[in-house]
Amino acid sequence: MGKSMKAFIYQGVGKPSEVREIPVPVPGQGELLVKVEACGICGSDLHAAKHGFAAPGSVMGHEYTGHVVAIGPGVSPDWKEGDRVFGIGGKPCLKCPVCELGNYMACPDLIIQGYDPRSTGGYAEYTLCIAKASLRIPDGVNLMEAAAVEPLSVGLAAWKVANVAPGSSVLVIGGGVIGMTILQWARFFGAVDAGIYVVPRGGPITSSRLERAKQNGATVVIDGTNEVDPVKIVQEKTGRPVSYIFECLGLPILQKIIDMAPHNSHVIALGGCMQPEQISSLSATLKRLRFSFSFAYEIPNDLAFTLQMMAEGRISGKSLITGTVGFDLLPDIFRELMGPSEHFKVILKP
Ligand SMILES: [Zn+2]
Ligand SMILES: [Zn+2]
Repeated sequence: MGKSMKAFIYQGVGKPSEVREIPVPVPGQGELLVKVEACGICGSDLHAAKHGFAAPGSVMGHEYTGHVVAIGPGVSPDWKEGDRVFGIGGKPCLKCPVCELGNYMACPDLIIQGYDPRSTGGYAEYTLCIAKASLRIPDGVNLMEAAAVEPLSVGLAAWKVANVAPGSSVLVIGGGVIGMTILQWARFFGAVDAGIYVVPRGGPITSSRLERAKQNGATVVIDGTNEVDPVKIVQEKTGRPVSYIFECLGLPILQKIIDMAPHNSHVIALGGCMQPEQISSLSATLKRLRFSFSFAYEIPNDLAFTLQMMAEGRISGKSLITGTVGFDLLPDIFRELMGPSEHFKVILKP
């Protein structure tokens, strides 16, 4: 194509990322070229930038939606220019047995989009996605809202791991985007009360954050500024014991959870804490706790289901989005989001 485009380029730990012109990528075998209309700024990208998981020179961004503008060789004729698409954030090999089953995220040769200069991501005017691993966005969902399908699917997958019994109460630890998605699925699947324990992360907890938890479906919102026992509070307010605790914080908190968890409850950890943490397995054993870990989501099922529920107005991407940004302010916002921030999901509109 020979054209150039604006892209937001990661330069390395501690160095400011910058917007530059780079060539528009050319779709290879099985690929679609997407004109990016919206790309969610993901906590994983902020994490990667902080800790150097991304190679310098990478264009991050894996929560993008847009229109198909060119189609590579070998793509199914079902795909047409102009189609509205959500591309999964990775480049699977498409040849191995795992890929053959469609379980692309488990491909051993998967190149995760945005952390490697070989696979530029969605913080750009154009990006490439693998047609076979992409989803068409249903009518009735706008491309901005659809860009929030990824975190919502993370929440759905964790909800499925928990296998929540009707009539129980759940407790969510952490007041970020993923915590909000658990609250939404709790409301969606019904028959449960969902409390949330919002823990401060280097800044004060504002009333707007607590308010947003309510909007996303929390029946009990607990401000964690002063240490309290959220399990007790949820039980008192809902009249039902907490049987499931979702860790969506990403800080060392498992021992605290073990201490507060009722006997026989199920802890689902999905915060992905980076720091090692010491826990007493005896205290967990004595309570017969069950621990599960949840990561990402099932492709394409969880994404497709979430998009469909958005189209039916039963799950909301909008209530996660707190701002939009263009390339001009993207470097500033990206830096701001690396610290404590009032924002939930910020969407780049190239
Ligand atoms: Zn993400
Ligand atoms: Zn593969």
